[in-house]
Amino acid sequence: MRLSKTFIKTLRAAPKDETAANGALLTRAGFIHKEMAGVYDYLPFGLRVIENIKAIVREELNKTGAEEVLMSALQNPELWEKTGRFSDQNVDIWFKTNLASGGELGLAPTHEEPITNMLKSYVSSYKDLPISVYQFQTKFRNELRAKSGVLRGREFLMKDMYSFHTSEEDLNKYYIEVEKAYERIFDRLGIGNETFKAFASGGIFSKYSHEYQTFLPVGEDTVYYNEDKSIVLNKEVYNNDVLVDLGAEKEKFEEISAAEVGNIFKLKFKYSEPLELKFADEENNQKIVYMGCYGIGISRLMGVIAEKFADDKGLIWPEAVAPFKYYLIGIGDKGLKEAEKIYRKNEDIMLFDDRDIRNGEKFADAELIGIPYRVVISDKTLEKDSVEIADRKTGKTKLVSIDEFKKSCK
Ligand code: ATP
Ligand code: MG
Repeated sequence: MRLSKTFIKTLRAAPKDETAANGALLTRAGFIHKEMAGVYDYLPFGLRVIENIKAIVREELNKTGAEEVLMSALQNPELWEKTGRFSDQNVDIWFKTNLASGGELGLAPTHEEPITNMLKSYVSSYKDLPISVYQFQTKFRNELRAKSGVLRGREFLMKDMYSFHTSEEDLNKYYIEVEKAYERIFDRLGIGNETFKAFASGGIFSKYSHEYQTFLPVGEDTVYYNEDKSIVLNKEVYNNDVLVDLGAEKEKFEEISAAEVGNIFKLKFKYSEPLELKFADEENNQKIVYMGCYGIGISRLMGVIAEKFADDKGLIWPEAVAPFKYYLIGIGDKGLKEAEKIYRKNEDIMLFDDRDIRNGEKFADAELIGIPYRVVISDKTLEKDSVEIADRKTGKTKLVSIDEFKKSCK
């Protein structure tokens, strides 16, 4: 992408109404645009980050045998009334609206009801199971507080996956496959070392559910971390019963702020029973399908990664999610010409700062936007047939021969 051609402009100051660091930085650097509290647009850089996150999640979930779909956001109240979840008393974050032809509609805050209902059309026998289905989908939640930038949106992108099984053992087996996939996902996103599978309350069907919590000073959650045993508990389960159950002592836990980036849940019959999702077993008995559900906050992850790695100069993207690998700057006539040549062969991975502005501004924007490597080609580097590569994370620069650099672009 050429910076001279994009409509995006970086901003020197953070917008006044944006109190969260992730929101302020992502706005200044041109990744997002705020519509109103908790409602954001994704601009070209931001969309590339989102797509990179999705690609990693998609790849790892496909390895578990899951299939991707895309379901509607518009929800039929009748379905949700069967589980008691259309009522504002039970679910207090609904956005509801009316049909012109009469009757109410809801905007999906999650998808357990519609997916369970959808699968009634496709599941009849034990031979049809197991099934795992996921989507990247826009959720709507009328959150009371939306002051955390993209960490808490009223409209946000979630990956939600639902699995369907003939037995509890099969659900348990798949649950472990998803745990492994989640570990690979957070590792690849660059936050693996500070993202923990935390014990959370399991509701009525299993002892625990699990949240994936990334340590983050501005995170809205508080978790309790026992480094020796590598156990993390969320607030709900940091109590004596659970501590005894896990064989851990209360004093050995440290209180840490974190952001929930995902969660996994054994639902068992919670939705399949009221919605009557059944299968015929080998003896032709009608049985209720076992379910699990598995979420990841895609847009929240963009905010978590942005906030976690930023410094006082701007964003610092891990290579796997960065919108581009290189930020290219040509200085001087020869430097500009050579940069142009290299850019044309590598448009996909380069953000080419070909704007007619001072070099100092280009350097400042390179740091603000946070592309992993800044590449400068100048008359001076060309004297040595080289380019200068600066690592955004360490700030270190080195000269690399042009040939070697071209090879690294492949
Ligand atoms: P939270 O406790 O943060 O409200 P939740 O328990 O309501 O999360 P789920 O309904 O399980 O979350 O959604 C799955 C994932 O979607 C969460 O782990 C989180 O990463 C993300 N998420 C939930 N609510 C929001 C939101 N309002 N904005 C952005 N991401 C969200
Ligand atoms: Mg919530």
